[in-house]
Parts: sequence; C-alpha cells; structure tokens
Amino acid sequence: MKYICPHCNKDGLSFFSKLSSGLANPAKCKYCDGLSSISGAVLSLFSVFIYTLILFAAGYAFVKQTWLPLIGAIIVYITLQALIVLYSPLVPLTKESVKNHRYFLLIFIIVFIAVGYFGSKK
Ligand SMILES: [Zn+2]
Repeated sequence: MKYICPHCNKDGLSFFSKLSSGLANPAKCKYCDGLSSISGAVLSLFSVFIYTLILFAAGYAFVKQTWLPLIGAIIVYITLQALIVLYSPLVPLTKESVKNHRYFLLIFIIVFIAVGYFGSKK
C-alpha cells in the first residue's frame, strides 16, 4: 500500500511510514525527501484521548492488580491508530516544525517519567 506525498504528489510513502508518522517523527518521501505526517489536529485529539485512556487504565490496573484494563487500552489504541492511518490525510511538514515537536515531545516524556517516578515513591 502506497500513499501520496503532499510535496511532490508521487506515491513515495509506504504504509509503515504513514503508520509510524507523527509530528515529531514524520514520514519521509522516497522521491523528494519531503516530510509529512497525519494531520496535527487529528493526532492531538487522538493523543489526548489515548493518553487519558491509558492513564486511567494504568491506575485501574494498579488498584485491581490486573493487566486486563491495560491490554484493553492497548487494543483500543492499535484499532484507533489503524483507522487514523487508513482515513486521515497526510499534511506537509517543514524541518523546523518537526524540530519543535521533538522538543515538546521530549519535555512531555521527561514530565511523564518524573510524575511516574515521584508518584511511585510514596
Ligand atoms: Zn515527495
């Protein structure tokens, strides 16, 4: 399965590059090296929903001492991700915006780990 690059309009993007694409790790066209990703608005909504779901599932799993809620959350995550890859259009990105998104992602991961680390110390 191939996807059309929004920069050069050739089918330079593979299914897996679209699947793994994000604002911080865009898909790269094999013809023009242009960067693109699934729409930022779609990704943001998806991220907010899925991180909330995973946080709740993790909390519930911890309280109930079972992995089932987390497994459920992961299944929902994979299903939604697949739907987004199939139906969401690719938008062109610049190197500059990718750099900014990597920076925000890094901060997010550090905060996430710090909260988890200090939260588990009690
Ligand atoms: Zn291209």
